[in-house]
Amino acid sequence: MNCEEKTLGKAVLVLLVREDKILLAWKPKSESGKRKIGEESWNGPGGGIEEGEGPLIAAIREPSEELKIKINRADLQRVAILHFQNVKSDGSKFLCVVYVFMASNWEGEPQASKEMTDPTFFEIGNIPFDEMMPADRHWLPLVLRGEKIIAEATLGPGQKTLLSEVVIRPMKRTMDCEICGEMDINPIVILPISNGKGAYNTLACEKCARESGCYCEKHKRPHIALAGGGTRCVCCYEGLPEVRE
Ligand SMILES: [Zn+2]
Ligand SMILES: [Zn+2]
Repeated sequence: MNCEEKTLGKAVLVLLVREDKILLAWKPKSESGKRKIGEESWNGPGGGIEEGEGPLIAAIREPSEELKIKINRADLQRVAILHFQNVKSDGSKFLCVVYVFMASNWEGEPQASKEMTDPTFFEIGNIPFDEMMPADRHWLPLVLRGEKIIAEATLGPGQKTLLSEVVIRPMKRTMDCEICGEMDINPIVILPISNGKGAYNTLACEKCARESGCYCEKHKRPHIALAGGGTRCVCCYEGLPEVRE
């Protein structure tokens, strides 16, 4: 399955900002002929979140693959979540969520790769928006001023045009899955993960909750922690009937 066929794509973008300059590189046309998001434009390193990887891990991996730089987890700050509705040339749509991180510390000199060429520091007042993705000029300046935002936009075929206004709202505290790193989860499940001595509350997405062993499929609810260790479903214990959907 390629990205174009998915109904929901998840990606990361990393803004490398140092001394009032931002590092951007050129994403060349992909050799496979299959269009990649952001190609033929200036962009920060980034790309699709792979299976089994959370946004933070992807935000460390992509810059190392694309620009040969190493970023420590603690130096990545989440600054925006972008929701794009992409309209394809046949009129069908797919959604893409982009988690945007900022870092001002990294190891190594940025180097070109097959995926990104010409790494260049641009003055923050002189960003080449005309050769960037169409929503960038609307949300990026806010983030560079220190705002944390959620932005929504609709993009035309090939992500070349904006079909709607970019709607921007402040990013309040969001709930993130503490197991897989998925961000801005709704609904979020509070799991009592046992560490042998007792249990500590862990925020989880539904998928991680179901895989955790402390979530009851029958009653669709997380377990409670037992005083002596371990967890159990209070409904199963009390013999309540299954939840019917
Ligand atoms: Zn999760
Ligand atoms: Zn139960």
